[in-house]
Amino acid sequence: MTGRVIVITSGKGGVGKTTTSANIGTALAKAGYKVVLIDTDLGLRNLDLLLGLENRIVYTIVDVIEERCKLKQALVKDKKNPNLSLLAAAQTRDKTAVNAEQLKEICDTLKEENDFVLVDCPAGIEQGFQNAVAGASEAIIGADKAIVVTMPEMSAIRDADRIIGLLESKEEIKSYKLLLNRVRPSLIKSNEMMGVDDVVEILSCPLVGIIPEDTGIITSTNKGEPIVNDENALAGKAYRNVAQRILGEEVPFLDLDEPKGFMAKIKNAFAKLKAKV
Ligand code: ADP
Ligand code: MG
Repeated sequence: MTGRVIVITSGKGGVGKTTTSANIGTALAKAGYKVVLIDTDLGLRNLDLLLGLENRIVYTIVDVIEERCKLKQALVKDKKNPNLSLLAAAQTRDKTAVNAEQLKEICDTLKEENDFVLVDCPAGIEQGFQNAVAGASEAIIGADKAIVVTMPEMSAIRDADRIIGLLESKEEIKSYKLLLNRVRPSLIKSNEMMGVDDVVEILSCPLVGIIPEDTGIITSTNKGEPIVNDENALAGKAYRNVAQRILGEEVPFLDLDEPKGFMAKIKNAFAKLKAKV
């Protein structure tokens, strides 16, 4: 087996890389693919927390590199989905603990036995970024090897632009796509937020997903259960669609106004009904 290594990156922190990694990983695993998530970040909300696996970590990526355990021993299986496992981030702030070569070697080994290896990047164009990029490999199905996560806000877009510049200069990265997170249609309508088309135009990068702002994401993080598992959440559906696109399916982008429009219609109908009574 030769799996695909996809790096989830952004430039700016807090835009949703870890959320995206957890959700895409879970969705691909649910679709029957073998997935490993590699956490290279030491952020506030790490992948282990998002997956509810924080108490199950025995070894981290640094233990693998420093040969305190075998790679297999360090993989923590997801509680619900045996197709999904996590290689946890080292509990050290020392950024030199894992270098690009070492990460690449780990990715190369993991892709032998997995369909997807998703690398959750730390923010910032530094050692951490170079690390995460090193592992992204040639895809078999002409797919995205980097997903650039951004938000419709100037500083996030500027940082995404710099990351795209860097991805362009990396021979290993054959393709990359944009995931626009925390989109709020009501603010776009009132001209308080940049529209999806504007962001795509500024970055001139193809889209792989549009994820709405959804408070359910915060509660799902606290519960340690990715929102893709929630059939009713719009953000969950948006992430399931991203996974399908990664698998090569053509899925139309969600009309984020839809539920609002629908609710509005129902309210309208009730209002009319009341008026009649
Ligand atoms: P990063 O890994 O890029 O630093 P995270 O995935 O940790 O970003 O997300 C940062 C914060 O934003 C978290 O508290 C997360 O719950 C929240 N968040 C991410 N995406 C959304 C969304 N679509 N709607 C609401 N909150 C979100
Ligand atoms: Mg993160």
